[in-house]
Amino acid sequence: MKRLDRLIAEAIKAQITGQQTAENWQYILQRLFAEIDADAEIDTSVAARLKRDFEAQVGKAEKNHKGLPRFTVDRLRPALRKKLDERIVQSLDLIKLRRKEAISNALARFTGWASSVPDMRAKIDMREVREHVYKPIAQVKYEARRVAIDQSHKLIAAINETIAEDGGAIALIWRSNWRQAGYDYRKDHKERDGKVWIIPGSWAQKAGFFSAKAPRYDQITHVAEEPYCRCYATFLYHIEDIPKSMLSFKGLAYLRKAA
Ligand SMILES: [Zn+2]
Repeated sequence: MKRLDRLIAEAIKAQITGQQTAENWQYILQRLFAEIDADAEIDTSVAARLKRDFEAQVGKAEKNHKGLPRFTVDRLRPALRKKLDERIVQSLDLIKLRRKEAISNALARFTGWASSVPDMRAKIDMREVREHVYKPIAQVKYEARRVAIDQSHKLIAAINETIAEDGGAIALIWRSNWRQAGYDYRKDHKERDGKVWIIPGSWAQKAGFFSAKAPRYDQITHVAEEPYCRCYATFLYHIEDIPKSMLSFKGLAYLRKAA
């Protein structure tokens, strides 16, 4: 922000001495935004973040997949890597789009303010400069960070869904972070916390092991699907891990035989 401070100080000086106009202010702002827009640093840091989160997630995948052998995860690595690459492209596109929106909003607001200053020789109110120049720029950066975090959650959810699908998960436990201080959780997601949902199409479902009343995962939104949802799932692979109330007679009989 050092460069920004200098540019603004220069602009204010020019204005006080009567050389500055609203058009010039806008020109400066446009140039600054163009620089932010072309800022490769944001893109690199987003890609790096996704790669880091990917490695961490794949490294401890067993944690969210109860009883799944490690080699299943290792075998899936190439497919998971593809998900990572796709997500990086999507995230960068999304961040660019949001950045453009934020920039055009900020420029529109700034134009409104600049054209309302009657005498450009008048003293500049620094609070106004902060409001119309610094704040929108900070907003753009904040938005990029927010999108990156959300994309990371979506990547992790996609990785786990791929593992679950390939590994033959039969159900999952919904996990919500509602206890976390300051987390703006969805009420209905809090209610899902700790509850088991069966995955339709699994071998256990096809075998008729679940009761018709068992809640199905295809009847609700998936974890991390809704914007900024930070919920996650623990996938289950064995009938023994399913609450008995969710099993059919056939399922209960299978459980007794297996015991
Ligand atoms: Zn959620």
